[in-house]
Amino acid sequence: MPSRSALLSQRSLIAALLILLACGFIATSLLSYFSSRSAIRDGIINTELPLTSDTVYSEIQKDLIRPVLIASMMAQDTFLRDWVLSGEQDTDRITRYLGEVMGKQDTFTSFFVSDRTLTYYQAKGVLKQVQPQAWRDAWYFRLRDLKAPYEINVDLDMANQDSLTVFINYQVHDYQQQFIGAAGVGLSVSSVVKLIDQYQRRYQRAVMFVDAKGKVLLTGSEGGPRGVRVGQSLSDNTDLDDARAGQPVPGEGSHDYRDADGHSHFLNVRHLPELDWYLLVDKRETGALDRIRHSLYLNLAICAMITLVVVALVHAMVRRHHASIEALATLDSLTGLPNRRSFDLLAAQALREAQRDGSPLVALLIDLDHFKALNDTYGHLAGDEVLRQFANVLQGSLRESDILCRWGGEEFIVLLREAEGRQAIEVAEKIRRRAEQLTFSYEDQPLRLTTSIGVSNLRQNDTLHTLLTRADSALYRAKQAGRNRVCSELHNE
Ligand code: GH3
Ligand code: MG
Ligand code: MG
Repeated sequence: MPSRSALLSQRSLIAALLILLACGFIATSLLSYFSSRSAIRDGIINTELPLTSDTVYSEIQKDLIRPVLIASMMAQDTFLRDWVLSGEQDTDRITRYLGEVMGKQDTFTSFFVSDRTLTYYQAKGVLKQVQPQAWRDAWYFRLRDLKAPYEINVDLDMANQDSLTVFINYQVHDYQQQFIGAAGVGLSVSSVVKLIDQYQRRYQRAVMFVDAKGKVLLTGSEGGPRGVRVGQSLSDNTDLDDARAGQPVPGEGSHDYRDADGHSHFLNVRHLPELDWYLLVDKRETGALDRIRHSLYLNLAICAMITLVVVALVHAMVRRHHASIEALATLDSLTGLPNRRSFDLLAAQALREAQRDGSPLVALLIDLDHFKALNDTYGHLAGDEVLRQFANVLQGSLRESDILCRWGGEEFIVLLREAEGRQAIEVAEKIRRRAEQLTFSYEDQPLRLTTSIGVSNLRQNDTLHTLLTRADSALYRAKQAGRNRVCSELHNE
């Protein structure tokens, strides 16, 4: 049995190991998690979002900048202005002109609205009269009072099944700089919307364009971040309040914010000077970090398993080490029998039990005869081998409950529990006979051996010492009487 202090130090060793391994593993796992997280965040903020912004920007430039130029050329076209100033005669001429612009420049629609007659001309002919009260025509009256020469308006095109169209509306002035109407082109933004959708689906990035007042002008077909729709204002979305800092649109550059569901987002804002629009590219952090979070959990699980295996192995090793130390301390190294030290403990307990219960206990003191001569004749190693083989004979002759020990040299002690004198003498005789009859062997040499045995039984006030002293004097008598015999000092029989 390991002692209490040994058990305690064993437990604290295992606890220290457990804490050390767990702390080491957790620290390295967390360190690598945080460094990958910051690398991913850096990548999103400094590379991914600006790159998306660049690509979407160049796409919108391709789609919008050229039409702005075309509309500007229309507004300065002398034919158009002369035709208006000469009283808008012959509608065919203007529709043919508008048809030319549309066909050659590959726009979706082209139009002119006259300020004098409020007629809306397009390539197919006269579309309608614009009316100040109609919300669809509000753009015209807004443009008329505008300081800037043009505006870009994302609207539904009535002439094209109400599809989402970007109109470039340019003011037309006569030669005295008097406003005489609006000319321009409309183009489908489906390619931009398609690109935005692609980003949204493939990279979980939301893209939208807003004007300087924060109104959403253009976004993917499923809406912008958290379902923001065209026509809504950024101020409708409280998530962006911090990023906006009181402005209609968050400042240019990168922002991060947390939405109402607690998800972190990264936001890149860019001003498009040609349009006076802002391009917002938004990415939710969670999706991007899911993979490394999973690998963190996997890491921790593997570390926990390794820790448990290491601790279990160390525990088993320590136990085995303890057991072998215990065995070394209590067993005789030559014969493997209990040594004198462990015999003292076992015998003291057996004595206490026998005296308490009044049960019999018998001691046999066994000495090999003329062992010195055997050593001298065949050598010390042969003597050792005979001692080992005799120990086996002893063990084979006794019960599990009997106590056996190598007392020292070529002497052995046996304590027989629950044995009366006669039975004890029978056991002693059996041992003597077996030793006498057995041919011991060392390096194929047959060796013969006899034993003398002294027997004594436990008396009322005996100590281990008095019990063994009587066994010793019985043994002495056996030696004196010629050896190879059993002598006893039995009482109360
Ligand atoms: P007796 O019949 O009177 O007992 O004679 P004996 O020779 O057996 O007794 P003695 O006490 O004179 O000698 C005991 C011998 O046992 C002496 C010693 O060298 C030998 N011996 C003691 N321990 C060992 C051991 O571990 N190995 C070997 N080979 N010999 C041992
Ligand atoms: Mg001896
Ligand atoms: Mg001897």
